[in-house]
Amino acid sequence: MSYDFPITRTHSPKQKPDPDCLDFGTVFTDYMFMMDYDEAAGWYDGRIVPYDTIHLDPAAAVLHYGQEMFEGLKAYRTKSGALQLFRPDMNAKRTNATNERMCIPRMDEGLFVEAIKALVRLESAWVPEKEGTSLYIRPFIFATEPFLGVRPAKRFMFMIILSPVGPYYKCGLAPTRIFVEDGRARAVAGGTGAAKVGGNYAAGLLSQEEAHSLGCSQVLWLDGAERKYAEEIGTSNAFFVIGGEAFTAPLAGSILPGVTRDSVIRLLRDWGVTVREERLAIEDVFRANEDGRLSEVFATGTATVISPIGNMLWKGREASVNSCEIGELSQRLYDAITGIQTGALEDTYGWTVPI
Ligand SMILES: *Cc1c(COP(=O)(O)O)cnc(C)c1O
Repeated sequence: MSYDFPITRTHSPKQKPDPDCLDFGTVFTDYMFMMDYDEAAGWYDGRIVPYDTIHLDPAAAVLHYGQEMFEGLKAYRTKSGALQLFRPDMNAKRTNATNERMCIPRMDEGLFVEAIKALVRLESAWVPEKEGTSLYIRPFIFATEPFLGVRPAKRFMFMIILSPVGPYYKCGLAPTRIFVEDGRARAVAGGTGAAKVGGNYAAGLLSQEEAHSLGCSQVLWLDGAERKYAEEIGTSNAFFVIGGEAFTAPLAGSILPGVTRDSVIRLLRDWGVTVREERLAIEDVFRANEDGRLSEVFATGTATVISPIGNMLWKGREASVNSCEIGELSQRLYDAITGIQTGALEDTYGWTVPI
């Protein structure tokens, strides 16, 4: 199906930022995508308009009970100047999985991807060229119906905004120090941990602040029931390489099913590395490290792709992983995934989608 979204032109295009000084998510492009939903019409009136503030009734349900969701992916510019997306169908599928959990109406997955393509195509001059840069794409949906009763809303807004971003690590991959949270929990099985919703993030901020005050850049979350098993690192999925095998938490309700996680598992298995989607006790991680069997810990997500962990702090115990050096698999995965995303390596998986 083809879509033709009307475009309202801006009269005041913005100045593009210096590609050498791009932060994450601070600069937005000239246009945004908007689409409404109501019970009678379904999703309707998809359109591209100049980037601007939005009007929202103070009683809008999202502001009171948090009925909303978001996604995150990137557009990359290849060496030849072409633009491409990385597995956007996965974001579309995950949108509907999140929507179902949050009582937000389903969205046509083809429409979701076409809306992204239409907006990025219009804003192609905003996709930076420098190595390591990309255009971050943030689709999101929120309940606009004004009412204070607690029930699923009947009116929603779907929007997409774009932000040019720089390389997450300015001087190549750099191992970070993480704080293992043994008190507060991010998510529990049966809760909303598998859904990409703002509430999960708000619930994690306090621990993130504590991590920062302890000189750590991120939180390693343990399971919400026993605080025993490693689940996620910050807002990324977590991998542990022990005795040559890679462990990552199973998708059992509290874990966000990352697109990067899925890609990493696929690549590792194709390289002959055993991947175990199993619960892994943090005690066993520390023990394996003492025994010299823990060779790598890394986080995976769209923003950083691969983020190696150099130190872990758990109940006052500090462990240095792989002498705080980047692991072999971490580097190889980073090179393979970013290579495919930017077109530097052949995409034998059919993961990239031209715009
Ligand atoms: C978005 C997200 C991830 C990573 O997902 P990707 O699709 O790889 O970007 C992991 N954990 C949480 C909690 C997330 O919100």
